[in-house]
Amino acid sequence: MVASFTIVGAGPSGMYAADALLKNFPDCQIDVFDKIPTPFGLIRFGVAPDHFKTKNTARQFARTLELDQVRYLGNVEIGRDLSVEELKENYDAVIMSIGAYNDRKLGIPGEDLPGVYGACAFVGWYNGHPDYRDLNPLLDGTGAAVIGIGNVALDVCRVISKTRAEMDDSDICAHALDSIQDMPVENVHMFGRRGPVEAGFTPKELGETRDLERCAAIVDGGQIPDEVEGEFEGREKGIKEKNLNILRELAAQDKPEKSVKMHFQFYASPVEILGTDRVEGIRLERTEVVDGRAVATGETFDVPCCSVITAIGYYADPPEGLPLNGATIENEAGRVSDNVYVVGWAKRGPSGTIPTNGPDSRDVVDLLTEDLNKADVEIGRPGGTAIDALLSSRDIRTVSFNEVLKIRDAEIARAVDGHPWEKFTRISEMLAVLD
Ligand code: NAP
Repeated sequence: MVASFTIVGAGPSGMYAADALLKNFPDCQIDVFDKIPTPFGLIRFGVAPDHFKTKNTARQFARTLELDQVRYLGNVEIGRDLSVEELKENYDAVIMSIGAYNDRKLGIPGEDLPGVYGACAFVGWYNGHPDYRDLNPLLDGTGAAVIGIGNVALDVCRVISKTRAEMDDSDICAHALDSIQDMPVENVHMFGRRGPVEAGFTPKELGETRDLERCAAIVDGGQIPDEVEGEFEGREKGIKEKNLNILRELAAQDKPEKSVKMHFQFYASPVEILGTDRVEGIRLERTEVVDGRAVATGETFDVPCCSVITAIGYYADPPEGLPLNGATIENEAGRVSDNVYVVGWAKRGPSGTIPTNGPDSRDVVDLLTEDLNKADVEIGRPGGTAIDALLSSRDIRTVSFNEVLKIRDAEIARAVDGHPWEKFTRISEMLAVLD
C-alpha cells in the first residue's frame, strides 16, 4: 500500500518534514498545502531581505517539490477551503507546519494606537506578505522604537537604518523600500527589558551593526558586564561572550558623523505607549536583572518616536479542531492526535534558525513512522484523489509548483536596480500571471 501524507504549510519545517517522509517511505505520495500561492513561508516572508544568501535554502526545498511523489497545492487555506477533519479522513497522516504567524502583545496602555506594529506584520510588510501589503506603517518622524533584543529586533533596526544602496542586492519590496527611505530617521531605539547577556542576538547578526553606511550603533559601555554571569555553558556561553565583545567594541567605537543612530538600550521595559491619536512616544521603566529576571526599579523615562515595532515573539493560529497551548499547537513531541503531527514553530515555539528545523522535523517524522508501523494501523487512505474532488467542488483555484516557477519568472522579469526580483505582494497579482 502506498502511504499518503499531507503537509500544511510549505515553510522550512514542512519541507524538512517532506524530505524525512520520503526517506522513511520512499514510495509515498505527499500533498503540500500553503495558503499563499508561493511556497517557502519564512524564507519568503520572514528572513531579512538583506540576508539574501540565507534564502538559498529554498533551492533544496524546490528540488523536493519537483519530485514525482510530491505535489504542491498553493493558494489553499486549511480551515477555510478544507477542514483539518477532511485531511485526517483522507490522508494517512497530516503534518501541520503552519509556523507562528501572530504577534504577541505587550499588554500595556497605548498598544492599540496607530503606529504600533508587531514584527510579524512589519517584517511581512517589507517582505511583501499579502496579509500586510497595506500596513502602510507610520514612518513620518525622526525616531522609531523597537521592543525586544533578539535577532528579529536586529533585523528590523538594520532594515530601517540602511541606505537604499545598501539594500540594492536585497529583495525588499519596492513599496516598503520607498517608504523606509522617505522616513526622516535619525534615532532607532532598541529596548531590552533585560541585559546584554540575556539578549537573543547571534554574533554574526549583531556584528552587522558595526559598519553600516549611514548608521552608528550606540552602546553604553556601562551596561555591558565584564563577564557572562549566570548558568550558561558551552556553545551558549561562547555566543554570549562573543556578543559582549562586539557590544564592548561598539561602545568604544569612535562615532563618525553618521546621520542615523541605532541605540542599544538595555534594562528598559516598556510601560506605556504615548500619544492621543497616534504614537508620539514610549515610556519605559528601568529594570535590574535579578536571578535572570527583569525587576522594575520604579524609575521611568520617555522617548519620542513616530512608531513602535514589537519584536517580542509570536504564537501559532491553528485552524479549527487543533487546540492552542500557549504559543503552540498542543502536542507531545510533535504528536497532536491520532494521525496529526506538528513541526517547526507551531510545535516548539518561535525559536532557532532555519536549519534548526531539520532535526526537529526528522524526529517528528520518525515518531510518525513508528506510529504507522504499529500492527493495528492500516495504511492506504485515498489522499489526493479524494481531496481533489473536494477542492474542485468548492471551486478552489490551486497553484502547482510549475505555476510557482512562472510567478517567480515574472517576479525576476520585473526586478529593478540590482534587486534579484520584485515580489508580487497581492494574491490577485500572482494569479493574474497564470490566468
Ligand atoms: P527572541 O530572541 O526570543 O527575542 C524576543 C525578545 O522579546 C526578547 O528580548 C524578549 O525579552 C523580548 N520580550 C518578550 N516579551 C516582552 C515584553 N513583554 N516586554 C519587553 N520585551 C519582551 O526572538 P525573536 O527575535 O523574535 O526571534 C525568533 C527566533 O528566530 C530566534 O530564535 C531568532 O534567533 C531567530 N531568528 C534568527 C535570525 C537569523 O539567524 N539571522 C533572524 C531572525 C530571527 P526576554 O528575553 O526578557 O523575554
